[in-house]
Amino acid sequence: MTLILNTVAVIGAGTMGIGIAQVAASCGHTVLLFDINPQALEQAKHSLTERLNKRVQQGKADAQATKQLLARITLVNTMAELAPAQLVIEAVAEKLAIKQSIFSELEAICQKNTLFASNTSSLSITAIASQLKYPERFAGLHFFNPAPIMKLVEVIRGRETSNTVIEQLKSLALSWGKTPVICRSTPGFIVNRVARPFYAETMRALEEQVGDPPTLDSVVRDAGGFSMGPLQLTDLIGHDVNYAVTDSIFQAFGYDPRFQTSFEQLELVQAGHLGRKTGRGFYHYDENKPLTQATIAEKVILPHAPAVTAHGNWQSFPEFAQLLKQNGIPLEESKIDNPNPPTLFVNNVIVMLTNGELTSVRAQKMNQSMVQFDLSADYAKATTIAISCAVQNSVQDNQNVIAFFQSLNKDVIVLPDYPGLLTMRTVAMLCNEALDVVNKGIATPEDTDNAMRYGVNYPKGPLAWGTELGWQHILHTLEQLSQFYADGRYRANPLLRQLVAGTRRLDAKEIQ
Ligand code: NAD
Repeated sequence: MTLILNTVAVIGAGTMGIGIAQVAASCGHTVLLFDINPQALEQAKHSLTERLNKRVQQGKADAQATKQLLARITLVNTMAELAPAQLVIEAVAEKLAIKQSIFSELEAICQKNTLFASNTSSLSITAIASQLKYPERFAGLHFFNPAPIMKLVEVIRGRETSNTVIEQLKSLALSWGKTPVICRSTPGFIVNRVARPFYAETMRALEEQVGDPPTLDSVVRDAGGFSMGPLQLTDLIGHDVNYAVTDSIFQAFGYDPRFQTSFEQLELVQAGHLGRKTGRGFYHYDENKPLTQATIAEKVILPHAPAVTAHGNWQSFPEFAQLLKQNGIPLEESKIDNPNPPTLFVNNVIVMLTNGELTSVRAQKMNQSMVQFDLSADYAKATTIAISCAVQNSVQDNQNVIAFFQSLNKDVIVLPDYPGLLTMRTVAMLCNEALDVVNKGIATPEDTDNAMRYGVNYPKGPLAWGTELGWQHILHTLEQLSQFYADGRYRANPLLRQLVAGTRRLDAKEIQ
C-alpha cells in the first residue's frame, strides 16, 4: 500500500532529529519539528540554517532550493500541533519510559492511521510499542549519524508491527535516497550488533600487548582496508557512547563472551578520557604535536633479491595475484586450480595467509621456516601488509620476506606471533556474527551485508567476504582461536558449520 505522506513530524531536535528533519524537508515534505526544550529547538534550526547557507556561499547548494527546504521546517511548541502528521519520527533521549509516554500521548493527538517510528539505537521496538492501543503502526526507523549523509536506514519490525507499515517505511526510505534494510527488533539490530567484534578484537590485541594504538589501527585500516582503525574510530565516537552500546548488548545477550566489554576501554571512560571530545582517548589530541605513528619495519637492503614463487589457489585473491604478476612473479595457469591455499615461497620460507594458528606452531607442523600475513580487503590497493614470523625462523628468513613485500611497495608491520593476526580474526568474527543474524531470521543475507557496507562503510559485506574467502577458512580460523583462548568467545555459529558441511547455502544472489 503506497503511503500518501505530506507531513512528517520529528520529535527531538538534537543531533539526529534535526538531521532527519533536513532529509524529510529536502525530499519535499512539510516538517513539524518539536522539542521539549524551546531553546534547543530554536538553536537546532538556527544551526541548520547557518550550515546550509554556508554551502550556498561555497557554491555547493542552490540558494532557492535551500530557502525552500528551510521554509518547509516549522518549529512547534506543543505536541498537539503534530496532529496533521502522517508520520511521526521520534529522536529524543534514549530512555524507554520517555519514548513510551511520548507515543501514548501521540495516540490521543494523531489520526488512527498515522505511522509512528522511533530512531532508537538500542531500545526494544516491541517494548516501546507495548503501551500502544495500535502497536501494529509502530516500527523502528534507525538513521545513522549524520542522517543527511549516511545511506543506511534500519527499518525495525517489533513483535506487533504490520507488514504494510514495514513496506511503507521501506518505500519511504528509498524515496529519500536511502538504503533501507529490514530487521527484527533484537539487541543492537544489525549494525550495532555485527560491528561489536570490529572494536573488540583490536581492544583485546591492545590489552594483550600486541602493538600500540597507531600500529594496531594501521593493521586494520592501511593493511586490512577498513576506512578507519577501531581505536581511532572509538576515539571519534566517544568511549562513553561506544562502551555503553557494547555493555548494553553484552547484558542483553546474557553476558555472552562474544560481546565481552574491554577493561582498557572502561578505564578510559572512568578516567574521563572519552576520545576526541575530551582531547584524549587511545590517542592524545594536541594541536602542537603530531599523533603517534605506526611502527613500520625499516627498509631492508639485500645484496640479492630472494627467489619468490607462487603456488596454490589464488582465485579468492585476484588483486594479490595481479600484484604478483605485475611484479614478475608468475602464477602458472596449471596452478590456478590447485586445491591448496595460496602460498608463496620466499627462498626457503613459506608465506601464507593466517588461518588462526600461531605461525610458530604451523611452522613446526610443516617443519619449515614460515611467515603468515594478515587479511586485506584489497592486497593491491593496501599500502601496508601485516605479518608475523615463526620463532624458529632465522633473522635472514624474516629479512627476506620483509624485503620481498617492500619490493611490492608495501609498508610492512611485523606483529608478534598472534593467532589469526588482527584483520583476519576481526573479519572471521564479523562473519560469525553476520551469520548469527541470518541464522536467527533477524535479517536476510543481502540486508545484513548492506547494513555493514552502508551503516559503517565496511569495504565488503561480511557474508560476501566470507563466501569469497571460503567458509572453511573462516571456520578453521575461529576453531583455532576458540582452542587457543578456550573462553567461548570464538565458538562457531551453527550456520557456519552447516555452510562448511554443505547442508545449507546462502543464496548467491543475496550476497553480491
Ligand atoms: P540529543 O541528545 O542530541 O537530542 C535529543 C533531543 O531530544 C534534545 O534536544 C532534547 O531536548 C529532546 N528531548 C528530550 N526529551 C524530550 C521529550 N520528552 N519531548 C521532546 N523532546 C525531548 O540525542 P541524539 O543523539 O539526537 O539521539 C536521539 C535518539 O537517536 C536516541 O534515541 C539515540 O539513541 C538515537 N540515535 C543517535 C545517534 C547518534 O549518533 N547520536 C545515531 C542513531 C540513533
